[in-house]
Amino acid sequence: MTNSANHHARVLQDKQYLWHPFTPQQRWIAGDPTVIVSGSGCYLIDDQGHKYLDAVSSLWTTVHGHNHPVLNAAIEQQLKHIAHSTMLGLTHPTAIELARRLVSLTPKPLARVFYSDSGSTATEIAIKMAFQSQQHRGHLRRTKFATLVDAYHGDTLGAVSVGGIDLFHHTFKPLLFNSLALPAPRSPGGEEERDCLTRALEMLDAHAHELAGFIFEPLVQGAAGMKMHSASYINTLAEHARSKGLLLIADEVAVGFGRTGTLFACEKLSFSPDFLCLAKGITGGYLPLAATLATEAVYEDFLGLPEEGKQFFHGHTYTGNPLACAVAIASLDIFEQEQVLEHTAMLTETLGQGLAQLKTRPWVSEIRQHGVLVGIDLCHPDGGELHPSTGHKVAMASRPLGAILRPLGNTLVLNPPLCMTRAETLQLLKITDDACAEVFAGVP
Ligand SMILES: *Cc1c(COP(=O)(O)O)cnc(C)c1O
Repeated sequence: MTNSANHHARVLQDKQYLWHPFTPQQRWIAGDPTVIVSGSGCYLIDDQGHKYLDAVSSLWTTVHGHNHPVLNAAIEQQLKHIAHSTMLGLTHPTAIELARRLVSLTPKPLARVFYSDSGSTATEIAIKMAFQSQQHRGHLRRTKFATLVDAYHGDTLGAVSVGGIDLFHHTFKPLLFNSLALPAPRSPGGEEERDCLTRALEMLDAHAHELAGFIFEPLVQGAAGMKMHSASYINTLAEHARSKGLLLIADEVAVGFGRTGTLFACEKLSFSPDFLCLAKGITGGYLPLAATLATEAVYEDFLGLPEEGKQFFHGHTYTGNPLACAVAIASLDIFEQEQVLEHTAMLTETLGQGLAQLKTRPWVSEIRQHGVLVGIDLCHPDGGELHPSTGHKVAMASRPLGAILRPLGNTLVLNPPLCMTRAETLQLLKITDDACAEVFAGVP
């Protein structure tokens, strides 16, 4: 069969059998989906041999690039020993080693690693741990959580309950517990942020007695459309919440592993959280794995004789999977051995220079950047209403030009692998710019 006949057959079967996440299936079925068969560095390669720059790191996961020899070898090596063994009642060396490494790399009070397998479970676990910890401490009325407006912490029901993206979440309202959504700005440092902070502090004061914890995405609210706030905004809010007895949950599922320029965003903050949620980039983008880190003080709330029933009643079957832990360790080795954060600083600068150019276009209202995380807000050049699918159209137009983008509504997102070269970055910015020009040439 020719490449194209092969593609056609595959796509028919996709449309017959699959149901894609977050996808309007009717539009999907009407289209011609791209079928990715391999990857190399910052490129994805389809079944007809076309190469695309992976502008969003395969949904914010890929760190050192696709098909990385060191990461491949780590999985092959582990596979010679065992692919999976349970963490319930047993342990294994790769889970132990990765936990030791994570504790040594994160702020000091974080001392314990609880594994799971996705960002949603990482936050769900932190929420349940914080709640149970408050219960063990006798704070029985602390049953709710403070969050930020437009928060995204995952798609399981607990994570959705502390989420605030109406489009994703409103359908499930009757199934959720109530949270207190604190105002958060769209971009850092201005009048809007000062106003948000004042109102957020008042809300915390009014509700602190019923709050078990405060969960937040430090510095960048990714799925909200790369909304950003200053370190001083989250420092003030978190320290105030802590002074009122709340436990602090930092969700670094999106911002962790170098995306903001430091290994973890919380290195830029004046406080250490009680919980740190990690997923997406933890395995370099290779396998599903997540970790919820907790302080020793929280851990001690769960100590007691078995008959006291104080243990944390939660666990996932594939928790701490050895293959995933092995590749996560190899990814940390690469961070240490290949000056990844130095390269990230260069990438951040190149992005910033190129974005300055894009900012002058009549269809761009605002660009926000922190490290390699970028949000480009599109607008109607004449100030009119922009069709809600415009971001999607730009992403589709960028594909024949050689890039895979995935926007959030009418905010274009760039979040490249940290290994992207200067030349690839400039090419990606040019494709983004050209795709916009093409789409906006047709906007009435
Ligand atoms: C992606 C994301 C999650 C959810 O992670 P999944 O692995 O998709 O469940 C949670 N929090 C943040 C900040 C995220 O960006």
